[in-house]
Amino acid sequence: MLVVMQHDETEAQVARVVEIIKEMGYEARPMPGAQRTSVGLVGNDGRVDGSQIESLDGVAEVIYVSRPYKQVSREWRQENTLVTIAPGVVFGGVEIPIIAGPCSVENEHQIVLAAQQVRDAGASALRGGAFKPRSSPYSFQGLGKKGLELLALARRETGLPIVTEALDEEGAHLVADVADCIQIGARNMQNYALLRLIGRLGKPVLLKRGMAATIVDLLMSAEYLLAEGNTQVILCERGIRSFDPSTRNLFDLTAIPLVQKLSHLPIVADPSHGTGLRDKVIPMGRAAIAAGADGLLVEMHPNPERALSDGGQSLYPEQLTRLVREARAIADAIGRTITVPSGTGSAAEG
Ligand code: PEP
Ligand code: MN
Repeated sequence: MLVVMQHDETEAQVARVVEIIKEMGYEARPMPGAQRTSVGLVGNDGRVDGSQIESLDGVAEVIYVSRPYKQVSREWRQENTLVTIAPGVVFGGVEIPIIAGPCSVENEHQIVLAAQQVRDAGASALRGGAFKPRSSPYSFQGLGKKGLELLALARRETGLPIVTEALDEEGAHLVADVADCIQIGARNMQNYALLRLIGRLGKPVLLKRGMAATIVDLLMSAEYLLAEGNTQVILCERGIRSFDPSTRNLFDLTAIPLVQKLSHLPIVADPSHGTGLRDKVIPMGRAAIAAGADGLLVEMHPNPERALSDGGQSLYPEQLTRLVREARAIADAIGRTITVPSGTGSAAEG
């Protein structure tokens, strides 16, 4: 349930609503908005009688949120949520950040070089897995803690914030100590224990759509994070399984406007895992910007032929430069801009 205050509400009136909600045995989440404040009632088991609250001074209306993904829904919050992973790198607003980097962190030379190339191409955050969820137990599993140290080094060298995946509880604490944004991968989208834990770590989260997950499944998983008090959640469309082996996954572009209608959370697109094919990443990355994506997540490797994972879908550095340049033109056509990496002052030339 959502209590919407009047435009001229006072702090005391909001405090009174919070007090009454707590007395009723629920949790109250005040949410100041540009126009007016709302107070969310969390833990609603469907039997709450809002009439007592509705009659309080300063209350405009009480809304019963009908969606099962309550706090994630646009009913709960009409304005877009802005997710800031580092100063100037904000998802959900007019600016569109591009996160790029290798699938896996492999060694110091590779990740520092990749970070410089990502920055020079005009992307504003670095990705790279230290803990890798591989289909085969015999494939490269990532450098683990050492990989996180190398990501921190790459950030010191370039100023780029870090997005990296956590696979389990122990890894989540390690990742939270280093990363600017914790990635939850497609395979873990419905690992509810992990979602709850990561929801409590107080770091921005990038939640990828499971490979057989519906849009509602994705939003319900995000609800686990918000239910733990973390509103800094970025959703990610990365393709779903289909019957057609022509591409690794079926990149679901419609998910972008669908999610934006149903939720206030930003959604980014990952055309790398979405297609699995290097030469399809640029066209689908462009298409995602045109469809309204709030960011891109793209794999780029200094030397894709040598990559220890996902080399076949990783862009060459010069291809990333081209993608960023073309994304800028498309963003401009729809009244948005591509985020400029910190410290470069103006848009890097492509
Ligand atoms: C990745 O980003 O490298 C990754 C493993 O992605 P996904 O979870 O979408 O497969
Ligand atoms: Mn990958």
